[in-house]
Amino acid sequence: MTGPTQILRTTAAGRPHPGGTHHFEAEWAASFTLDGPPERTTLVLTGDQVHVGPLILVNQSHGFQSDRAEAGLTALAANPYGVRLDRHYATVLAALLDQIGAGDQILAVSGWRSQAEQTALYAGSLAEHGEEFTVSYVARPGHSEHHTGLAVDLALNDGRPIDEIRPDFPYDGICGRFRVEAARFGLIERYPAAKRHLTGIAHEPWHFRYVGAPHAEIMAATGDTFEEYHQRLRRHPWGRRPLRHRLGPELVEVGYLPTGAEPVTVTIEAERWQVSGDNVDGFIITAWRRP
Ligand SMILES: [Zn+2]
Repeated sequence: MTGPTQILRTTAAGRPHPGGTHHFEAEWAASFTLDGPPERTTLVLTGDQVHVGPLILVNQSHGFQSDRAEAGLTALAANPYGVRLDRHYATVLAALLDQIGAGDQILAVSGWRSQAEQTALYAGSLAEHGEEFTVSYVARPGHSEHHTGLAVDLALNDGRPIDEIRPDFPYDGICGRFRVEAARFGLIERYPAAKRHLTGIAHEPWHFRYVGAPHAEIMAATGDTFEEYHQRLRRHPWGRRPLRHRLGPELVEVGYLPTGAEPVTVTIEAERWQVSGDNVDGFIITAWRRP
């Protein structure tokens, strides 16, 4: 397997699985085999796949190779900065901006970055703003969330010049409306105020990470940063004590599955599910259940 695959659940005959395509979150998966009826799926997950999926954790401790994400990127339509994002995130972001009627009032100024681009950005920031500023706001090359294609920097486009490193994205007006809807669309403000000791990055009101709706809504409810959410999930082993969260008419179960040197086999009994690597040493499994 090379790079992030975006395999949908497929039947043995290779046709799309009916349970796999009706929700955004089904689009990341691993190699797997179907076992029995559609509501019972057996997956074989390999260690390399922990770097694939919408819940990968990238920070100072956990790096990510930017070329892994490259095949899944798309260019944002009519974007003057040439921003590229993970294909699925681009669709979700467009839907959210459409929902709030943002028009051109909100502009994406930075999305996926290669290792070389991050290196140049880091060096440029050091030269222009110095070390204290740079370590606060710019991740080291190889450790930027922007390498994943699942992070975007947004700017309020109100006619004033836009600062591309620290764009203005306030908490009121059209940006406030964006924030109200963000979790429902699966987005989190990744670097909140007063959490730098956990995230390693100072408050960045402009940086939004895609993690998927149930996870963003759970984090909104608990106040977790992405780092804290990963820690929380480690206390909820899949198959024994998953985290349960009610989301409208559905019950969502989320659990952690560690991996090792050998491929791990897991059977999921749900019509709708998602598997994502954590970019560390395991997988996060999500299953939707109708009570
Ligand atoms: Zn950013």
